[in-house]
Amino acid sequence: MSNVESVAQSYQQFNPRAYLQNNYVPPRADFSNEGSVVQWKLRCLADACATGEIGGHTLVDIGSGPTIYQILSASEHFKEVVLTDYLEVNRAELRRWLQDEPGAFDWSPYIKHVSKLEGRGDSWQEKQKRIRERVKTVLPVDVHQPNPLGEEISSGSVDALVSTFCLEACSPNLEMFHRALGNITKLLKPGGHLLFIGALEESYYLAGEAKLNVVPVTEEIVRNALSDASYKIKEFKTYIMPPTLKVGVDDVNGVFFAWAQKQDSK
Ligand code: SAM
Repeated sequence: MSNVESVAQSYQQFNPRAYLQNNYVPPRADFSNEGSVVQWKLRCLADACATGEIGGHTLVDIGSGPTIYQILSASEHFKEVVLTDYLEVNRAELRRWLQDEPGAFDWSPYIKHVSKLEGRGDSWQEKQKRIRERVKTVLPVDVHQPNPLGEEISSGSVDALVSTFCLEACSPNLEMFHRALGNITKLLKPGGHLLFIGALEESYYLAGEAKLNVVPVTEEIVRNALSDASYKIKEFKTYIMPPTLKVGVDDVNGVFFAWAQKQDSK
């Protein structure tokens, strides 16, 4: 029987470089293949941000892991971006990229691709520089705490949240998944936006020696969780993982993208 403590224990073996290798290089991140999952995720995020409805002072990414692709579009619309993760090894990986240190993961294919999608007319290098400047800090987070970012960021102070593949990957069951969504939602101002991506019908994934349990969710479960957490769903899309991208690093069947807005009432 899994609980929050055993999930936390399993994450002690999480290997950021193995995770990046499993998910963020070809075939899953094939920029020559429009059908690749990474292109789909980047397009969903870019399209939502291109509406001009999402913007403000502070954007917080919950459970960034060692990745930054998820903030490439949204970060253009905020003064400050905060990255967060539960594990110090992931926060260190993020700082390595932010400070452009040797050995940092190469996100340039992603930045080039998103620059093209956005068509701002500037170079990808300028976009990369802007993102590095806008990320003000990398904080520890625990979505199972009533205040996931502790004293650092208080309830109701955040203009928008991004969270990708985090809540289902660190919740031992659906009840805790729902509760975790409620906990992060408390950070948002009323009217604030959530860009939410996650795995559909996945029960585990690998990251080096670590095998992490995932609570399997369906579109219906995610929609209900968003409604229960006081969101209005503005857009919901799903991607079916093609057999060619089932590469033995997890048992994911698909990916959801939700753009949701926190309602004033709660
Ligand atoms: N956001 C990244 C992405 O899109 O690839 C990483 C997702 S990874 C599947 C799940 C992340 O959840 C890991 O980086 C892990 O450290 C983090 N995590 C584990 N326990 C957590 C907790 N209690 N609160 C917040 N994040 C947690």
